[in-house]
Amino acid sequence: MKTENLMEIEKNKLRSAYIHIPFCKKICSYCDFCKVFYDDKKAKKYISALEKEILTSYKNEPLETIYVGGGSPSSLSIENLNNLFKVLKRLKLKDSYEFTFECNYEDITDQLLLLLKKNRVNRLSIGLQTFNSKYEKILNKKIDKDLMIKNVNLCKEYFNNVNVDLIYALPDEKMDDLENDLNEIIKLNVNHISTYALIIEEHTILYVNNFKELNDDAQSKMYYKIVEKLKSNGYVHYEISNFSKPGFSSCHNLAYWNNYRYYGFGAGASGFINNIRYDNTKSVDNYINGKRIVYKEKINKKTEINDYVMLSLRKINGIDKLSFKNKYNKRIEDVFDYKKLVDDKLLMENKNNLFIPSDKLFVSNEIIIRLLDSYILNK
Ligand code: SF4
Repeated sequence: MKTENLMEIEKNKLRSAYIHIPFCKKICSYCDFCKVFYDDKKAKKYISALEKEILTSYKNEPLETIYVGGGSPSSLSIENLNNLFKVLKRLKLKDSYEFTFECNYEDITDQLLLLLKKNRVNRLSIGLQTFNSKYEKILNKKIDKDLMIKNVNLCKEYFNNVNVDLIYALPDEKMDDLENDLNEIIKLNVNHISTYALIIEEHTILYVNNFKELNDDAQSKMYYKIVEKLKSNGYVHYEISNFSKPGFSSCHNLAYWNNYRYYGFGAGASGFINNIRYDNTKSVDNYINGKRIVYKEKINKKTEINDYVMLSLRKINGIDKLSFKNKYNKRIEDVFDYKKLVDDKLLMENKNNLFIPSDKLFVSNEIIIRLLDSYILNK
């Protein structure tokens, strides 16, 4: 077989599946995800619809990663969790795999953790966001620091691969508030931490109530404080917003950042199969009624390269030049004229990699846009 065909087959290998569970017991004021209030009967129907989608689309490939996110997958009743896992059994996994399940810390019990363990889950992701109870009302989220600590520690008794999420740049948040959150999160000693600056999206409760994001200067100071503090406490900064103990980076998220192909199952999920990106409907009712895909786009070569570059630059190591060459049969310098960006110290390169320097990570979006603008192939 020709090398180009082999490259195409390798590129289109399906390695991952994301499964969206759009149910929550309470709606957070900043939430822009696809979610509805938990309803037991609706959840049952939803899981049946999920089974139909998997039966229609999944081609039995052994997967490297599965990620069950939401919403709050842990909001499902035990009966519905059992139904869900019966459906997910249809997805084959390779011998070595990562299977993540998102949990709301309030839902964590021995019973839940045992059930997850019995059903191939080997990684948990827990949305703590902040320990600061002054945000309870603003975020419309229960903030019970003692319960957070107790339940994360309980998770660690069952799973050694645990992620917690931290949100910063909250309304009127001060550096001291952030320091306190970081100190608490470090004490938890989990293997993975994901951080997000609060974005106030339209149609969220925060937006309607006229809350404003912190300015760029404040956000940038907070971002670099997080990086400095987590790195000095043994975490590897491996992606713009993600930190892990050595060996615990998220394989599922790396699959996205490496632009690998993946299934997206469920309402609001997106997937990338062969060269087609698709989005499922965000309407849970439409999804239940079988009206699934609302958007499909065949990705041409230029878009594919741009996506690869954009996603790879989120990683601290940036673009692996050899992988780029192997994928696209071209050197990166023959596709982008990025010398000016290197001269301006917005990009750095060595023999193997092209990457964003650590002091410019906060402005990575602007740098990526400039790099994409320097596309020279077929010009
Ligand atoms: S728990 Fe997550 S998905 Fe549910 S409302 Fe809050 S942020 Fe949104």
